[in-house]
Amino acid sequence: MESLNTIAFTERRCGNDVSKIMTHTALPGQPLLQPVWDYLRDNYPDALRSPLLSVFLSVSTYFLSCLFFSALDAISTVSPIVNQYRIHRERPVKSTDINRAVGLTLYHQIVLVLPASVAQWWWRPPLLLEDSAPSMWDLISGVLACFLLFDFQYFLWHLLHHSSRWLYATFHAIHHEYSRPFCWVTQHMSAWEIVSVGLWTTFDPHLLGCHTLTGYTFMVLNVWASVDDHSGYDFPWALHRLVPFGLWGGALKHDFHHQKPGTNFAPYFSHWDWLCGTDADLEKRRE
Ligand SMILES: [Zn+2]
Ligand SMILES: [Zn+2]
Repeated sequence: MESLNTIAFTERRCGNDVSKIMTHTALPGQPLLQPVWDYLRDNYPDALRSPLLSVFLSVSTYFLSCLFFSALDAISTVSPIVNQYRIHRERPVKSTDINRAVGLTLYHQIVLVLPASVAQWWWRPPLLLEDSAPSMWDLISGVLACFLLFDFQYFLWHLLHHSSRWLYATFHAIHHEYSRPFCWVTQHMSAWEIVSVGLWTTFDPHLLGCHTLTGYTFMVLNVWASVDDHSGYDFPWALHRLVPFGLWGGALKHDFHHQKPGTNFAPYFSHWDWLCGTDADLEKRRE
């Protein structure tokens, strides 16, 4: 157990052989994450306090996740082993579709995300950092609570924007230009939808009183989950395969929403669609 509580960090600088080993140990009674939190607070206090860190984490996680799935898409064209995990095996992702989706993503990064980041940096005071790390239970339950709240907010937004012809045409139809999504479709959406999603992701951890570390963890996992939803992959180790009772809809259910837009409005969990009678299963339709 002692080895679990001890984390050693090695830092190499400028190619020199100088290496600095910092060891933080959780004292008895302290949270397991205390060494990690102490290390981050000691070494990156300004970054942790900065309102720009959430933007940096979201944008970098988004591009890294998309590049990962894009690489798989490219490999799948020559590798049946990879292609077997694609939901639409018979339809390779076209480069024209990728270019259009990436183009809109970059446009939004420049005209929307960049000015919003500057405004946030200007307007939001630096965060106050907690002395104690969250316990593992606080971190896991906090992230889960953020996911449940975000899922509910997006479910309502999504249902509303499919219920009104004007709202759909004005704010959501652009996201449905692709009936068989791939990773870059995740943010192929209107500015209003990006702003809505961005606000929930940023403020939900504060609304729920989460620890700073919990909030950043949620942001990273939320971006990854949204890209996974649109990835077009059905891996045996995907969350929708691992979470029991079909509670996590994931990529299969959201892919089906892009084909049948009157179904599966929740982005992640299945319970709201079950309760509202809008749940549909791609696998059952295949049978
Ligand atoms: Zn979608
Ligand atoms: Zn939709």
